[in-house]
Amino acid sequence: MSEGPDTPIPAVPGVGRASGFELAGPDGPSELNVETALERNRAFAGVRGHEGATVFPTLGLFVVTCCDPRTDPAHFLGLGLGDAVVARNVGGRVTPEVINDVTYIAQIAETALSDGPLFQVAVIHHTQCGTGALADDAFRHRYGERIGVDESALRGVAVLDPAATVSLDVERLRSAPAIPARVAVSGHVYDVVTGLVETVVPGARS
Ligand SMILES: [Zn+2]
Repeated sequence: MSEGPDTPIPAVPGVGRASGFELAGPDGPSELNVETALERNRAFAGVRGHEGATVFPTLGLFVVTCCDPRTDPAHFLGLGLGDAVVARNVGGRVTPEVINDVTYIAQIAETALSDGPLFQVAVIHHTQCGTGALADDAFRHRYGERIGVDESALRGVAVLDPAATVSLDVERLRSAPAIPARVAVSGHVYDVVTGLVETVVPGARS
């Protein structure tokens, strides 16, 4: 049966209801195959795409965002190779691991920059985030059992109101004792429908 572009996607019970994300386009996921990506890699190396990239990010930027395939900052922020450090996880949440990673990069940067700003962390949450599934009791309970975590701790991971969760995560970074004051932190929301990023919390450290 062929499906037109207007064919509604069958709803997966519970999952996606809260934030309205869709698991796949009308044709479903494409073939699970790394060969296509490796072919693109050979083309990348063939045109010397890797040359000239530096270790310190040329935009002085550390981006934290969701691992959703729609929210790749190389595309929606136009980041080129070497432009930014990028940490991605489910929801783009500021976890203890993200705090440790920012601290690590700050410590590296301190060895090269004796004073002044080190870099800016831009935390970017997005609309229609798949973490909305964690607002569903049955999904959250099953996931909590699988990873051995109390499900009450998982409820707060859901990005249902990205402006609210990104503000919370900016505060987590700003109040982390391990992160030096020379690291600026800003918060943003990426709208997957319009393609635009809005600044919710400006980068100046108060
Ligand atoms: Zn997401």
